[in-house]
Formats: sequence, structure tokens, C-alpha cells
Amino acid sequence: MDNGGILPGRIEGKVTLRLRPSAPYSSELTANQIGVIADIAERYGSGVVHVTPRQTVEIPDVLSSCLEEVLQQLKGAGLSTGPIGRHLRNVIACSRWCLYNATAMDRMAKRLNDLYMGVVMPGKMVISLSGCDFSCVRSRTSDIGVIARVEIELTDRECKRCSLCVKEPLGCQVDAITITDEGVVIDTDRCVRCGFCTNICRPGTIRVRARSFDLFLGGKGGIRPREGVFYKSLSSEDSLLEEIERVIRWYREVAEEGERIADVFERQGGGPI
Ligand code: SF4
Ligand code: SF4
Ligand code: SF4
Repeated sequence: MDNGGILPGRIEGKVTLRLRPSAPYSSELTANQIGVIADIAERYGSGVVHVTPRQTVEIPDVLSSCLEEVLQQLKGAGLSTGPIGRHLRNVIACSRWCLYNATAMDRMAKRLNDLYMGVVMPGKMVISLSGCDFSCVRSRTSDIGVIARVEIELTDRECKRCSLCVKEPLGCQVDAITITDEGVVIDTDRCVRCGFCTNICRPGTIRVRARSFDLFLGGKGGIRPREGVFYKSLSSEDSLLEEIERVIRWYREVAEEGERIADVFERQGGGPI
């Protein structure tokens, strides 16, 4: 498994190192790991680090002549380089602390990373798992994107009329909830199944009835960006994992060298039905 992650530098004799925690993979760095990265940037680089959009850290301007020494230090701290190029990049997910999570996706990211991170693919492949519809990790412009959803229901617990569920920052963003004299009314046509109201409703008047995951395929950024298309909704993490594995098998079978999922869709006029 070639993970790459050592990029040519802009200055001769120097490289940029793209880093991530070694297995067991996590997008979280420990304080010790941050300390080691800072020390390496000071001693062998230019004293700065760059946090990438895909939750890796880069140390620029590392002296090529000291590379082996630096890699050993990183390994000792549980860090490794990569992946880049035509591989499955590190699967990213929202932070598990975010208050908006319908379902925290870090566990699914770990399962996918354990199975696939760094595996050679026909083209670049990114997978992004969002805990809610805000899609902060850009699920809709990833080859495989997931957005966690919830189905909500009203219970017989008394509404305290606190109004937290109807206003920003933590309540409904699409005006799907009205508080009336008779109680809470949900406009199901407006509801986008984000689950914010269930996170904020302390008495439990609104609660989660079921969790699900919307799967989007064929998104990408880059020079010819594409928005991913909704593919299907899955009702459990296991069924989501199975479906993603099926999509990856399909992609590896049908894609020509360098093609991303969006390119296969364009060429074939469809996806892995
Ligand atoms: S997509 Fe939602 S859960 Fe994820 S970081 Fe953004 S607000 Fe939080
Ligand atoms: S789940 Fe529906 S009603 Fe609740 S906050 Fe989200 S959009 Fe609004
Ligand atoms: S449904 Fe819950 S959050 Fe909304 S007003 Fe009633 S008690 Fe408050």
C-alpha cells in the first residue's frame, strides 16, 4: 500500500510532508502529536504548519537531507505521511463534538479508513461524512458523500414553549416548526430531517424516531467541479458500509485509469444500480 504524502517542495532540497495519525486512524491529533509536529517544523522546516481542508496537516520546507530522521520521529509519535495521488484519501467526518450532529460520523470514518485508506484506486477518490445537512465536510462535492438524517416525531411530553426549536442558532433553520396554543406543529414538507430540534428540545417533546444516512455519488471539486447526485438512503451504519463497499467495488471494476466516479457517470450515463 503506497501512501505517498511526501510532496516536492517549492524550494530545491526541501519537501512538504502531509501527515495523518497512523492506524488506528483518527482525524484527531493528540497534544503530544501536535508538539512533535511543531518541533519538526521549527527544527527542520520554516516554523509553520498548514492545516489542509481534508483534515491532514502539512509541514512545508522540510530539509530532504533530514527526511529519514524526521520520518522516524513522526513514526515514534504515531504519525505517518499520505495518502495522495490515485488512492482513497483519508475518509473525513465532522467533529464528534459538534452540537448539530444528527449522528456523529467519526466511527463510520474509522471503519472506512481501516478498510480502505491508501488503497490504490483507478483515480483519486474522496469520501466525506457529514453529521448534518450543513455538510461542513463537503459531502455533496465528494466522490462518495454521506449526510446523516433523522426522522422526527412528537411525543406526549409537555412542550415548555421555550422556542429554542424554532430559532437559530440551534433550532430549525427552515421554518418547519410552529408553536401554537395547541402545541408544536411540524410542517413535514419543509422538514429536511436535520434533527436540530431533537438536539435542543430538553423536555423531549420532539424526539428522534429513526436515523438514516443519505448517500451521494459522483461529486468532486477541482477544475471541473460537480455536485454529487443523491443515490439512496440507508437505515443503519452497517447497511451504509455495505453500500459504500459495493460502490467502491463497482468503481474499481468499471473506471478507466484516472477517472473519478463523476467521469464514469458521464461516460456510462449512470451509476452502480
Ligand atoms: S455538518 Fe453539521 S454536524 Fe458536521 S460540523 Fe457542520 S454543523 Fe456540525
Ligand atoms: S428535523 Fe425538521 S423540524 Fe426539526 S429542525 Fe430539522 S428541519 Fe426543522
Ligand atoms: S418543542 Fe421543545 S424546544 Fe420546542 S418550544 Fe417546546 S419544549 Fe421548547
